[in-house]
Amino acid sequence: MPATPDVANNLMPVSVERPLMVLLVDDQSFVAETIRRQLLGESDIGFHYCADPAEAIGIAEQVGPTVVLLDLVMPDIDGLTLCRFFRAHPATRDLPVIMLSSTEDAPVKAQAFAAGANDYLVKLPDQVELVARLRYHSGAYVNKLQRDEAYRALRASQLKLEELNMELRQLANLDGLTGLANRRFFNERYGEEWARAARKRAAIALIMLDVDHFKAFNDSRGHLEGDGCLKQVAGAIKQMVRRPGDLVARYGGEEFIAVLPETDGNGGAHVAENMRAAVENLAIPHEASSVGARVTISLGVASAVPSPGTDPSGLIKLADECLYQAKHQGRNRVKTITLSAEDADPKPPNPGVLKNP
Ligand code: GH3
Ligand code: MG
Ligand code: MG
Repeated sequence: MPATPDVANNLMPVSVERPLMVLLVDDQSFVAETIRRQLLGESDIGFHYCADPAEAIGIAEQVGPTVVLLDLVMPDIDGLTLCRFFRAHPATRDLPVIMLSSTEDAPVKAQAFAAGANDYLVKLPDQVELVARLRYHSGAYVNKLQRDEAYRALRASQLKLEELNMELRQLANLDGLTGLANRRFFNERYGEEWARAARKRAAIALIMLDVDHFKAFNDSRGHLEGDGCLKQVAGAIKQMVRRPGDLVARYGGEEFIAVLPETDGNGGAHVAENMRAAVENLAIPHEASSVGARVTISLGVASAVPSPGTDPSGLIKLADECLYQAKHQGRNRVKTITLSAEDADPKPPNPGVLKNP
């Protein structure tokens, strides 16, 4: 299709000031001339004439009509066939088509509508009726385009909003310094895992850990280096938990916690020992520590097979108690407690059940 407007076809140049654009497809130029004259007084209506039906769709794509007047009887491609082409083509599928015919014959009208025409006018229509129908169909078409566009924009902004909400939810669940889950998210997930373990009568293990003599580290090396140390510790302990259900979180300042579903005391102690070794192997200098010359951590591990309806916080307290004992017994070590099924029942758990301090 020609990209530049054909002078013979382009009786009235397309203009942005003409929101209403008529494309007439008719082999008879006198029809075009008549309609062009009828529209002369309508300053907001643009008019484009196409004499060759074979070029009609291409011209429609260039001109962007808001309504098409289509001659029913033309050589080569008749109006019915062309109307079907309009309906089949993505660029013209929704364009309103007014069939121009010389007959009032009902079966012919029926054929026109069956081919996808929106309206039917007998040639030559009077000026008032023609303009009214052009305005009506153009208006409906432009409204539809605007509605579609608004819907698209709405959908795009909904998607963007969903994306942002997801990011926000993720950010709300993360600790800003270490990138680990935060305490709020941990509590949420831990509660779910506890309930799941109770349903399945499965073991669940908790590891509570704390950096040794971290106050002294901050005092000697400064808070910024302290932050850097916490990031490294977080990275090292996170690497030691690998199962999909496991979760490591920052529980407080220099305190971390991990929940390990379907893990008993032995499994929990094993992971905790790996964490301890991983932090020691970071070899972060810590001259002010009583433990050695490196940053170390102490860990408490508690595990149980929860009973349905029991309080998950009991196991946290136990893990904390184990951590306290690890500190007390010299730091840089793991202390573990495994609750038997009966011990896991009371609410809150009895600290007297610490069998393996
Ligand atoms: P212990 O071996 O008994 O755990 O001794 P500690 O010094 O580590 O324990 P304490 O609870 O006395 O001190 C914890 C310190 O952790 C105090 C605080 O300055 C530091 N801390 C807590 N949160 C942060 C943090 O986000 N960044 C830094 N740099 N330091 C933190
Ligand atoms: Mg500490
Ligand atoms: Mg502490």
